[in-house]
Amino acid sequence: MDFVEYSDFVLRYSEVYQVPETDKLLAVAFGLAEETGEAIGHLKRKYRGDGFNREDWLKELGDVLAYLSLCAAYSNSSLEEIAELNIDKLSEREWKGTQFGSGSDR
Ligand SMILES: [Mg+2]
Repeated sequence: MDFVEYSDFVLRYSEVYQVPETDKLLAVAFGLAEETGEAIGHLKRKYRGDGFNREDWLKELGDVLAYLSLCAAYSNSSLEEIAELNIDKLSEREWKGTQFGSGSDR
């Protein structure tokens, strides 16, 4: 499976949700934040000593990926474009030796 096939599936799956077209990006951005929190909750429980289930963690990361894919789609973009932009950004940081630190514009 590639990013295009996956993103098409997620978009089709999400069409059951009745959200006005103008609110779709906001709705999926909220979903991305929610699922990110759920994923981090698995790590919280791990470091609190409540155990950790790798498969559950990976499934939660899948939820994050699904909402990221929808954020891309409703931004007229794709996971592939986002990945390419990210590789460009990280490669530039590597070339400049600015992998450490903070801020997007390094
Ligand atoms: Mg979830």
